[in-house]
Amino acid sequence: MRVYISADIEGIGCVVRSEHSSPGGREYERARRFMTAEVNAAALGAFAAGAVDVVVADSHNVGLNLIPEELDERIRLIMGSPRPLAMMDGIDLGFDAALFIGYHGRAGTADAVIAHTFTGRIAEVRMNDLVIGEIGLSALLAGHYNIPVVFMAGDDAGCREAEALLPGLATVSVKQGIGAYAAICPHPTVCREKIRTAAEQTLLRCRREGFPQPLTMAGPVTLQMRFTTASSVDRVLRMPRVQRVSGTIIQYQAADLPEAFAAFNTMADLIELTPFI
Ligand SMILES: [Zn+2]
Repeated sequence: MRVYISADIEGIGCVVRSEHSSPGGREYERARRFMTAEVNAAALGAFAAGAVDVVVADSHNVGLNLIPEELDERIRLIMGSPRPLAMMDGIDLGFDAALFIGYHGRAGTADAVIAHTFTGRIAEVRMNDLVIGEIGLSALLAGHYNIPVVFMAGDDAGCREAEALLPGLATVSVKQGIGAYAAICPHPTVCREKIRTAAEQTLLRCRREGFPQPLTMAGPVTLQMRFTTASSVDRVLRMPRVQRVSGTIIQYQAADLPEAFAAFNTMADLIELTPFI
C-alpha cells in the first residue's frame, strides 16, 4: 500500500492565528513543530497499517514548513515551490489513498479557524456549481488520478466540510473554532495520538473492506472565482479566456479538471503579485 499525505498548517492543533501560520511570525517555529508531529503521527499510523511507501507534500506557503530531520526516516518529502499541482504535487505518482493533515475550511466559513482558499483575496471558488475550498480542490486532484481521500485531520468546521464532500471519509478534529482566529484546543499529544490511531484504523478498514470512491469531476469544468476586490479581476483579465461576470467575479471555461485547476492556480498567484489591493 502506497500512501500520500498533503499537509497544511492552518488546521494543525494549537494553531489559531497568523502569528502561527506566517513564516517569521512570533509562534511560527512552534507551529511548524506541531505540524511535523501531526504528519509523523499520520505516517506512523499508515506504516502500522501496512504502508510500504509514504510520500508527504509540505503544502503551506512556499513548502518549507516541515522539519525534515524530525520526520520519520521512511517518509519521502516533497518540499519547495512553485509546483504545478500545488498542495497535491506528486499525487500523479500512483497511490492507494490520500490523507489530509492540517487542512481547514474554505474562505467565508463561520467558526472555521484561519479559513481561506489559497489566498485571502479569493472569496469563493466554484467548479460546475460545486463550491469548494482547499479540501475540495485537493480531493478533486486526487480523484483525477483515481485516488480516494480516506482521512483528514483539521478543525471542526474543516472536518464537517470534508465529510459533506467525501462520503466514507474518517476525520479527527484537533480544535473547535470559536471564530476565525480562536479555538478550544486539546493538548497536542492528545491530538497526535488520535491521528495515529485513526489513520491506522482507517487504512486497515480500507484494506479489509475496500477503499471509498474518489471524488471526480469528468468532462468540461466551468470555473467561477469571486475575489475580494474588483482590482483582482482587472489583473486576471489579462489571462486568455478569462471572462468578467461582475465587478468581483470571473468565469473560465476549461476542457477538464487539470486545466481548471491550472487556471485557478495561476490566477491565485497573479493576484498576489502586487502589495496593494
Ligand atoms: Zn491552507
